[in-house]
Amino acid sequence: MKLLYASNLLLLAGLGSSCLLPEERAGGSIRRSLNRRQTSTGKAIGKGDRFSGGSSFPRGIGSGNATDMSTILAVAEVTTGLAGLVKEYGIQTFTTPYKTFEGRSIQGAKVGGSGDYYIYLNGGIHARERGSHDSVLYFISDLLYAQKHGTGLTYGKKTYTNADVTKALSAGIIAVPLSNPDGTNYDQTSNSCWRKNRNTKSASSRDSSTIGVDLNRNFDFAWDLKKWASSVASEVASSSPSSEVFQGTAAFSEPETQNMKYVLDTYPKIRWFIDLHSYAGDILTS
Ligand SMILES: [Zn+2]
Repeated sequence: MKLLYASNLLLLAGLGSSCLLPEERAGGSIRRSLNRRQTSTGKAIGKGDRFSGGSSFPRGIGSGNATDMSTILAVAEVTTGLAGLVKEYGIQTFTTPYKTFEGRSIQGAKVGGSGDYYIYLNGGIHARERGSHDSVLYFISDLLYAQKHGTGLTYGKKTYTNADVTKALSAGIIAVPLSNPDGTNYDQTSNSCWRKNRNTKSASSRDSSTIGVDLNRNFDFAWDLKKWASSVASEVASSSPSSEVFQGTAAFSEPETQNMKYVLDTYPKIRWFIDLHSYAGDILTS
């Protein structure tokens, strides 16, 4: 399945160099195989609603006749896209319990399985990493289409049979396409390469860069980084609100990360977790 994401990302990702942390830029210590997005000014955000309030449904690139992907899905289209999947396929969706700083709800879908869920796909934790929430939504759309119509899926030269689709779905998938809607909405409306959420509790009114927490530094795992790796701590995570990697005031201080914890606590059989970013085309495994 990881290959599927890479295929989607090739189509969808587009970031300017200002969107990258120093270690993410070309010329850093890690060789990058995808350089296109480092020189792009970014992919435009969709205007309007390509799912017409949920009366039509998303189609990924794997099942043919894909939804128009010439622009990135706007925040509201994640909601209408999920509504379209509910209408077309009868899947269950859910809303996580903690609202964001700006009052948005975060939605997820339950796909496949027979009551238990072993896979968790999370998208959009870093606002500016465009293509992430699109790819999660379109990927489950592909699986659902292939299941309903008894077909396989094709991504470039890679083909999956209907039996492959059935097998993947049998594991049960929890999909949360957009886990940071505040940050993503801000990035989409300002085109500012915003990375964090929009929590202002630690912010100074004189410095807009002090807004927000890097949600991917807000988990309890390795919270006290200085204990783990003193020499790199300031680059990897920071206690300074103006930092792009500001970790927040405490582990799980943010509603977005609390919601991710909620998913893992609610579905304790989850064994495979993919958090989909889009900064360099890398697949990182534990
Ligand atoms: Zn990221």
